[in-house]
Amino acid sequence: MSTARSTIARHRVVVLVAALLVAALLVLTLTTWSGGDEASAGDQAASSGAGSGGAAAGDGGGDGTDGAGSGASAGDASAADPSATQPEVVESGNGRIAPVQTWGEDSERAGREIRWSVEAEQGLGLDLDQFATAVRRTLVAEKGWEAATDVHFVRVPAWQVEQGARVDVRVTLASPETTDELCAPLQTGGRVSCWRDGRAVINSYRWVKGAGTFRGRIWEYRTYLINHEVGHGLGFSHEACAGEGSRAPVMLQQTLRLDGCWAWETPADDGSRLR
Ligand SMILES: [Zn+2]
Repeated sequence: MSTARSTIARHRVVVLVAALLVAALLVLTLTTWSGGDEASAGDQAASSGAGSGGAAAGDGGGDGTDGAGSGASAGDASAADPSATQPEVVESGNGRIAPVQTWGEDSERAGREIRWSVEAEQGLGLDLDQFATAVRRTLVAEKGWEAATDVHFVRVPAWQVEQGARVDVRVTLASPETTDELCAPLQTGGRVSCWRDGRAVINSYRWVKGAGTFRGRIWEYRTYLINHEVGHGLGFSHEACAGEGSRAPVMLQQTLRLDGCWAWETPADDGSRLR
């Protein structure tokens, strides 16, 4: 009997020890899992928080003078941006600006000759061929400045620029920091673009990020950006929205506000009352 009892007691001990071991393993496993999940969730929250926080702070800082409206639209921009495929914006390139190769024939239109070229700061990590193609398409477009006014654009290839050929309008892609330098004393605050000294300076921040006013239509915004700054080069000043619901003039500062107008990117059919 005593032998039987002690056998049962031994069995109980074995079962108890086994149960404790299983419980201990379970606790260990759960701890590891939850630890892992928290770590990765934490990392994701931290990285997306830093990214969106950084962008929001930048937008707010750059367009701060235009108040809550532009803050809200900056928020729209980051929400609409396919940030997964978006290249990083380099805040400062190496400061060296070089001509970019361009291709294609000029249009058949007649008009006052405007000789144009494309150039870019080095070290931006952006597709310069894509930039040059966008500039040319915008300038010779059916609804571009050639249709809206009396100009005829003449392409000056990079090799001619390097040999010192005359250029009237240089369309320049530059980092935020270099944009500020090229545009001074105009205040671009690292976030907007300008026309200055023969250059339509396109801020790479806007080229990549667009503007909330265009609600994610990045190519329309880029077309607007080129048309607007080149428009200054042709002698046009800023123009106001003509009224609620009309097309925005291309010379309205559409990056910052629309004042009730529709965002509009081409000059030939925009809401201008001055042309
Ligand atoms: Zn302007």
